[in-house]
Amino acid sequence: MAVYATSLRDRFRGLDRRGGVLLRGPAGWGEFSPFWDYDDAACVPWLRAALEAATLPYPEPVRDRVAVNATVPAVGPQRAAEIVSRSGCSTVKVKVAQAGQSLAEDLDRVAAVRSALGAEGHIRVDANGAWSLEDARAAVPALDRAAGGLQYAEQPVATVDDLARLRRSVGVPIAADESIRRATDPLAVKRAEAADVVVIKVQPLGGVRACLALVEELGLPMVVSSALESSVGIAAGVALAAALPGIEYASGLATVAMFDHDVASRPLLPEAGTLPVGRVTPDALAPASEDTVSRWLARLERVADLAAIDLDEVLR
Ligand SMILES: [Mg+2]
Repeated sequence: MAVYATSLRDRFRGLDRRGGVLLRGPAGWGEFSPFWDYDDAACVPWLRAALEAATLPYPEPVRDRVAVNATVPAVGPQRAAEIVSRSGCSTVKVKVAQAGQSLAEDLDRVAAVRSALGAEGHIRVDANGAWSLEDARAAVPALDRAAGGLQYAEQPVATVDDLARLRRSVGVPIAADESIRRATDPLAVKRAEAADVVVIKVQPLGGVRACLALVEELGLPMVVSSALESSVGIAAGVALAAALPGIEYASGLATVAMFDHDVASRPLLPEAGTLPVGRVTPDALAPASEDTVSRWLARLERVADLAAIDLDEVLR
């Protein structure tokens, strides 16, 4: 086991640091890195995903590289353009509806991304459920115009019912993220016809196999995304995207670029907008403080106890 910790280059999702536990088992390394605002019960699928990676081979890939998008946090237009130009990606996800910021700032950021990306690239926005239905009805079409066409708007509103209402009233495709990964009933999105696209994340959904089963049940186009993991966790997302025959959208897996220090000497960063399929070994771990290490190991132990998993037994 190894604990990593890093600062982030830009504040994202209200975070300026990221860390987790890497577990080694017979199949390789897995990552357990739930966000700190998740309680122990919510962390159980994250642990199952880490143990799957450490103990089982990934499903057979149907491609050896996967296309990924660049991510632009709630930064100013100049920094946004810089991130896009440096990424080499032709799809960009832009964070919008950040607390304390205005729609005007979102519009400026999206317009700057379009200028840097060129007319051919795809722009998607992610509001993390922050808008009211009324605000979303105004913001989504305005952003669509500023972007010269949005690929989709991700979780513009918080609830499945509001997603469905918004989807019926705006001409922009709607993606569900939090409504899939934090919901007790991910199929509610399908029943309510609340989304055109679903965002799938390996750790919160319990592993690559659990994601494949969910995708089959949902029967909707999907986008594989990260939960801001190190290269070890990202490799599991790449394995999922590589195992899906009909993937249409670039995956949100280029997020190691946000880390000041990754865990691998060859981090999973995109080349020409794609990531390679394969296992990652943490051979360049930045040392975490004693405090951080004990906090993570205690959390891991609590979650394993809760799930009645004997880690020594499973990882042997
Ligand atoms: Mg999202």
